[in-house]
Amino acid sequence: MTPVTGLPPAMADCKDDVTPMLSQYVELCEQHPDALVLFQVGDFYEAFCEAAEEVARVCEVTLTQREDSTGEYPMAGIPIDNAASYLERLVDADYRVALADQVEDAEQASGLVDRAVTRVITPGTVVEDELLAAGSTTYVASVVERETDDGERDGYGIAAVDASTGECFVTTVPTRGNVREELDRIQPNELLVAGDAPTVDPDGNWMETEIDAELFEREVARDRLSEYVADPDRRIDNDAEARACGAVLAYAEYTQGDDGPLEYVSRIRRHDHRDQLRLDAAAIRSLELFDNRGAGSRATVFGVLDETASALGRRCLDRWLRRPLVDRAEIEARLDAVDALVGDGIARSDLHDRLGEAYDLERLAGRISQERANARDLRALYATLSIVPELKELIADIPALSDHHARLDELRDVATLIDEAITTDPPMELTEGGVIKQSFDNELDTLRTTEQDGREWVADLEAAERERTGIDSLSVGHNQVHGYYIEVTNPNLDQVPDDYTRRQTLKNAERFYTPELKEREDEIFGAADRADSLEYELFCDVRATVAAETDRIQTLASVIAELDALCSLAIAATKNDYVRPDLQAAAAEPSIEIHGGRHPVVETTQQEFVPNDTDLDAGGVAIITGPNMSGKSTYMRQVALCCLLAQTGSFVPAEAATLPVLDRIFTRVGASDDIAGGQSTFMREMSELTEILHDATDRSLVLLDEVGRGTSTADGLAIAQATTEFIHDELDALTLFATHYHGLTDLADERAGVHNLHFAATREGDDVTFLHRVAPGASSASYGIEVARMAGVPTPVVDRAREVVASTTGDASDSDAAADTADDAAGQPAADNDTTTDPTASAAADDALADALADQTLDAETVAAVAAELQEIDIATMTPLEALNTLDELRTTLER
Ligand code: ADP
Ligand code: MG
Repeated sequence: MTPVTGLPPAMADCKDDVTPMLSQYVELCEQHPDALVLFQVGDFYEAFCEAAEEVARVCEVTLTQREDSTGEYPMAGIPIDNAASYLERLVDADYRVALADQVEDAEQASGLVDRAVTRVITPGTVVEDELLAAGSTTYVASVVERETDDGERDGYGIAAVDASTGECFVTTVPTRGNVREELDRIQPNELLVAGDAPTVDPDGNWMETEIDAELFEREVARDRLSEYVADPDRRIDNDAEARACGAVLAYAEYTQGDDGPLEYVSRIRRHDHRDQLRLDAAAIRSLELFDNRGAGSRATVFGVLDETASALGRRCLDRWLRRPLVDRAEIEARLDAVDALVGDGIARSDLHDRLGEAYDLERLAGRISQERANARDLRALYATLSIVPELKELIADIPALSDHHARLDELRDVATLIDEAITTDPPMELTEGGVIKQSFDNELDTLRTTEQDGREWVADLEAAERERTGIDSLSVGHNQVHGYYIEVTNPNLDQVPDDYTRRQTLKNAERFYTPELKEREDEIFGAADRADSLEYELFCDVRATVAAETDRIQTLASVIAELDALCSLAIAATKNDYVRPDLQAAAAEPSIEIHGGRHPVVETTQQEFVPNDTDLDAGGVAIITGPNMSGKSTYMRQVALCCLLAQTGSFVPAEAATLPVLDRIFTRVGASDDIAGGQSTFMREMSELTEILHDATDRSLVLLDEVGRGTSTADGLAIAQATTEFIHDELDALTLFATHYHGLTDLADERAGVHNLHFAATREGDDVTFLHRVAPGASSASYGIEVARMAGVPTPVVDRAREVVASTTGDASDSDAAADTADDAAGQPAADNDTTTDPTASAAADDALADALADQTLDAETVAAVAAELQEIDIATMTPLEALNTLDELRTTLER
């Protein structure tokens, strides 16, 4: 099967006339037109012609010329022993790599050695341990549009499979936006599309692979699914899911070089997006749950929570955080378990220690059932099984973990078999003996005894022959080429008996053998060879027996994974001083009450994090104002994260929290705050807003962070206000809206349920200090000028801005008036030279200021200042982010 259609030609005709070997290569290339074929030649993988040039370039290996009877052509090779790092480079360079291995013994081949592609390595289907990060996931996914019987569009089926662990799942989502959302959650490395299908998302961080459209066909896909699960219809909801799933499985089979179903994909899970707290791409990104940009170990929520001891646990925690729960009972069950472990430090740390000894059972199970496992893998499985009894004992007395206790299967039969069969420290190689223990198999024992007896006989031979011949310097030895020999130095050659036959002549000696030695030698090597291959057969039998238990191994893997994830949450809760959240009663109107809440990530990077309270009643909208950098975004995110963590089953960073069970968290970050996202356009802001306006319910939490920035002030305010009114009046969603439109704060007077919060700062002379403390009421002046100054806006501009402010407030003598400090409602002792103003009054002043500024035409001085600033800028040394920020600042200066 070659499901992939036309992709980079790795091999074009580089010569007309080819030897049989090269023609074999060309043929394999033609069978895998999408892939770079690496061709095993002894200890190397080689590529020829154009493919050689690519391999040489990407892997930085020497490009040489190969010469044969037909002439010269390029060749490059990588050592098989050390192939992993080279393969990684090729895959990173977006190549699919087909490994064409020698599938017959080169010595036994008559003529050309037979070769076949045993594996196609692609970004989404990597299974080689060396190429996988521990505890990571590697999905290949596909999306199929769903059609109703009368041809109407009706949502999308999505499927994904992780070929390294066998995890496979499907889901259906209603809109294109949801597809993005789901793909953002899955983060596939590779996305399959049918030949003619439209691209799902050109920005996606994955490789797109076109596969044969036939594999997406309903019947083909359904047939394939029924090879995997007994009753596909019970697991699959609709044709779109079936087709997507059939396609990913077909592709996984192809890349693993298998003709039939992959044994270790034994279950297909179905997610219903209504069964989980929904997070869209913007939420996952702006809440910084994971390091989405591959920038390494940045501080993320996952990073804070991840105290897992095993790869299994790490993957599980990752899944949990991507799909928080909405089922109260499930949430409480996790919280109970975490609670129990928080309360039992000894159990917690013992459990953590034991779990650290668990190997990656999910990947082991994959390797075992794919016949890729070696003896060390089986020993690793055994080692993991050996901790199970201890795990059971450790959690036996913890009621919250009784379900896990019951599901922990020690797999005694499997453990016993491995321990009886496999040596404790086996070699990597399976064909050179040393793998099977003594007493496991009678025939093997007999062969090894014969071998051993033979070797002992040879060991005694030297003494016996010295005595028989009277040659004291006679010695018995062995080498690879000639086998056993008796060596006699030249001076003693006349004493050599008649039954010695010459084997080899050296400078100072001759080497001989006797009929008996020859016989013994044949016996020894015959027995050894037979024993080695018998060991290999026995090993394969053991592996097959274990493979038959894949299902149980996978179940055990998932229980261990959950225990590790729960333990990790408990450790993180203890370490970071989190508290168990109370879930609101199911019947209660959704509201959020947090006392002393913190941002789980920012608090770890901040010397002193200021905790803040939140009190958001059902349907409540909080309008949050305050200068830049005062803590608005952090505050909103910490509220969302508390809810999200609670629904993951985690304790939360607060002194106390009573939380609803949310159905969705929306976050929208205004264009200029989300530059990394790329398309910072007003259009995008609006289309995202539209989605909220369609989908939010009274169980949704909506975070709007400076939304409306992408347009002119007047439009922005208008849209912000209309949005808020709609959310409040129609949706009743819990909403936090950080805004620089002070006009918005008036809504609090007009609508019950809308209230103002602000972040205060104190000012001493020219310096502004942020308190990071939320307080009721609207913020006064925006501190814009101070912040602009602190950000390095040139003095002429700052001074001019002060003048403008002064003239519009009619107080020329004190240009600072408009930059007054906010009312510090939290009761911070105000600095001596601080002025405290009534928030309402100063908000009004602020509006007056904004109006006055909007009316003003560009004055020459400002333009000159901006021009000067532009000239100063050294674009070469700026990051794109700095550049965009500067541009934004400059434009803002002009707009004023
Ligand atoms: P804004 O959205 O108002 O511009 P941010 O929320 O981005 O401000 O916060 C700016 C910075 O202030 C953060 O990066 C963090 O370093 C600090 N900060 C925010 N909130 C707090 C807090 N509660 N305690 C301590 N520092 C904080
Ligand atoms: Mg902000």
